[in-house]
Amino acid sequence: MGTRAPVVEGVTPDIVIIGGGFTGLAAALACAEAGLSVQLFEAGKVGCGASGASGGQAIPGLRWGAADLLAEYGEDRARALVETALAARGHFWRLIERHGIDCEASRTGTLTVATNRGAMAHLAAEAKARRRLVAPWDCNVLTRAETGAEVASPVYHGGLLDPSGGHVNPAKLARGLATAAHRAGARIHQDTAVTRIDGTSVVTASGTTTFARHILVATDGAAGALLPELRARLMNVGNFAIETEPVDPALIPNRRAVADTNFVLDYYRLTADNRLRFAGGERYWPGVPADIAGFVRPHMLRVFPQLEDAAIARSWSGQVAITRTRHAAIGRAGNVFHAAGYSGQGVMLAPFVGHLIARAITGDSIMFDRLASLPAGRFPGGPALRTPLQVAGMLWFALRDRL
Ligand SMILES: Cc1cc2nc3c(=O)[nH]c(=O)nc-3n(C[C@H](O)[C@H](O)[C@H](O)COP(=O)(O)OP(=O)(O)OC[C@H]3O[C@@H](n4cnc5c(N)ncnc54)[C@H](O)[C@@H]3O)c2cc1C
Repeated sequence: MGTRAPVVEGVTPDIVIIGGGFTGLAAALACAEAGLSVQLFEAGKVGCGASGASGGQAIPGLRWGAADLLAEYGEDRARALVETALAARGHFWRLIERHGIDCEASRTGTLTVATNRGAMAHLAAEAKARRRLVAPWDCNVLTRAETGAEVASPVYHGGLLDPSGGHVNPAKLARGLATAAHRAGARIHQDTAVTRIDGTSVVTASGTTTFARHILVATDGAAGALLPELRARLMNVGNFAIETEPVDPALIPNRRAVADTNFVLDYYRLTADNRLRFAGGERYWPGVPADIAGFVRPHMLRVFPQLEDAAIARSWSGQVAITRTRHAAIGRAGNVFHAAGYSGQGVMLAPFVGHLIARAITGDSIMFDRLASLPAGRFPGGPALRTPLQVAGMLWFALRDRL
């Protein structure tokens, strides 16, 4: 992949991309395919951020469901937003296929499971709103018994099945996108942190300055370090995951990607080699639990008590970048673009946003502008108070899951 291609000074690329996750890599690929010269700087290795750590659940739609979009924005705007989200869905599966990316892509559907009766009513309303807004967004409301046939757990009241989603191995997807971008002509510099943006130039930790016609900040929750105006718009939430040794695949017989309706949600799926990849529990203050497996395992056992003896093969943590409204923070100031804070739903959307940035640069910004028009909001408080206020707010919502 030319992973540590030397930085060539004196060359002005059409675009410098900062960050090698799904957003940055897909933008690099789409820009290179559009004939633009591309340099991408990644502080670590491609996929080492949220993209590689993610659950790999490819969930169609925006973070807001169709029902909420309809209630807040009315029929026309909600329809346009949902159509954009479904364009992201088509783009995602085509991208993997077109570039032959070996990432264990499994189009086996996503299943949202209701943890209480009220949540079930919300899922039914969501299905109704989807049908009203777009014909081809198939989804089925499942009864308690039907949900039990999908997930071998007694805890759910029902579910909403979207057969058009699925899951991927996210680390493999990131590496595959990087390879495709490199083949298309993008220069990818790993282990190269950017410390500063100066107007139209980007400065790396080693002091190299690269001038660029366009800049994309695709560093997710770290974007505020380069673009101070994003500091109050993004917050990182610690999220924790485990993977078991192989289990009986009858646990999720149709291999859906499953997520529950709680604010602090459990989400899980089977890997290609039948391990259960399960995430549960969040932390809003800095730091990682000393024993991540011990932190997540009780969440898994609440759902699947039959896994009492299942061995945990590995555990890890990641930072989910969220915004106050949960709409992604997407925008541009002149020729400097940014996209971050997909609020836990970026696997399908982030590659599409990367693609839309290439389109915006080459003259078609309709869908980019549509997503950029959604307000990310600002977290309250100045630099000193912001974190305690955020923590208090999040804990309140987390508590409501248990009431
Ligand atoms: C644990 C976890 C589980 C998740 N599960 C799901 C899921 O199942 N489904 C879903 O839809 N979404 C999920 N998400 C969210 C999703 O992973 C993200 O929205 C998406 O991957 C964001 O991609 P990105 O490219 O914008 O950011 P990232 O993948 O975080 O990429 C940003 C990159 O920028 C680099 N970087 C940062 N600062 C600099 C700098 N100064 N210079 C150079 N490089 C820099 C970082 O090293 C990083 O590689 C999850 C997130 C986490 C953390």
